[in-house]
Amino acid sequence: MTARRASPLRFDVVTPPPADGSTRARAGRLALPHGVVETPMFMPVGTNATVKALDPDDLDEVGAQIILANTYHLYLRPGHERIRALGGLHRFMGWDHPILTDSGGFQVVSLTELRSIDDEAATFRSHLDGSLHRFTPELSIQVQEALGADVAVAFDQPVPPHASTRAEVAEALRRTESWALRSLEAHRRPDQALFGIIQGGLEADLRASATERIRALPFDGICIGGLAGDESPAQRGAVLDVVVPLLAGDPRPRYLMGLGSPADMLDAVHRGVDLFDSVLPARVARNGTLWVPGGKLNMRNAQYVDDPGPVQEGCPCRLCRRFSRAYLAHLFRAGELLAYRLATCHNLTFTLDFMGRVRQALAAGTFLDLVQDHARLPAPDAAVARHVSGGRAGTEGE
Ligand SMILES: [Zn+2]
Repeated sequence: MTARRASPLRFDVVTPPPADGSTRARAGRLALPHGVVETPMFMPVGTNATVKALDPDDLDEVGAQIILANTYHLYLRPGHERIRALGGLHRFMGWDHPILTDSGGFQVVSLTELRSIDDEAATFRSHLDGSLHRFTPELSIQVQEALGADVAVAFDQPVPPHASTRAEVAEALRRTESWALRSLEAHRRPDQALFGIIQGGLEADLRASATERIRALPFDGICIGGLAGDESPAQRGAVLDVVVPLLAGDPRPRYLMGLGSPADMLDAVHRGVDLFDSVLPARVARNGTLWVPGGKLNMRNAQYVDDPGPVQEGCPCRLCRRFSRAYLAHLFRAGELLAYRLATCHNLTFTLDFMGRVRQALAAGTFLDLVQDHARLPAPDAAVARHVSGGRAGTEGE
């Protein structure tokens, strides 16, 4: 592999992990063409070039520094060439801060009617109109260059670990590695970073070899894919304990795709991950579940209809500054659209504030205290987490 252009990304580890090995957690500063992202960081998901129910001012207010948009969805509708002609994704959606686009691999493989997958491409039917499409690594990169996000991701073939044999995992891994090379060859845009993806299911030896191979390639960052699905937290931790030590001396940011509950992210930060994304906080918000310290409130429960207090005392969000639990409970019962906006603002504020506390603890040297204190956090919403498996998931059609 010949050397690529100078990276449009700069990643500095501001607080490295302690030498005693008690944690691999680290704090960093990720400079991208549209701004700086402090890590560890959570990325809200804007599937259709919008984080559902929020506008860019809301995103600023909840503390979003970078968002994710879905290549598959924007390719199908409104079309990447249309977005390019309209000035690119940043201008199209009115968001002037960093954006990451995924490769489309996850949606193509898991959410569409997949016709066939071979070494050349994945052929699938659109979830919108049944039209037939053929996605190659080259097309994924071409679409992502047209969208113009700060970070693009190599096209991959994820597999659901529990529904796949070792042979299937190994075949998908071989394909993902070949597609990584083709993605690198195809990528031309000098103002866009490109991340590679480590797959390999739950098999330690496959994960290790995938890590070695992706690490050897000139990507600007490293994604860890195929997790945040149906695996247990212990299985996820075991995979991270294989992958991250092999990246210990590597200067690039590490991004675990699809994880979004605070407790899960805390554990992954502890094991050395820098970036996350998920639809989870926003999706559960739209279902009436509000995250608060120590648990969650279901606004559809009768107990809230007379409750004059805020959802969370002291929360700086648009909901808690001004409105009561009773009002939000009423909005959900009445099916009012404002409920979705207010609840989403709260859960994203909660999630991003939590990541801010993680960064502060890293800077102060008190991160392990925070880990021990994590009983105060909402438990991972297992049923919902499975439903949104992969985070990037979801045709997001409600
Ligand atoms: Zn709030």
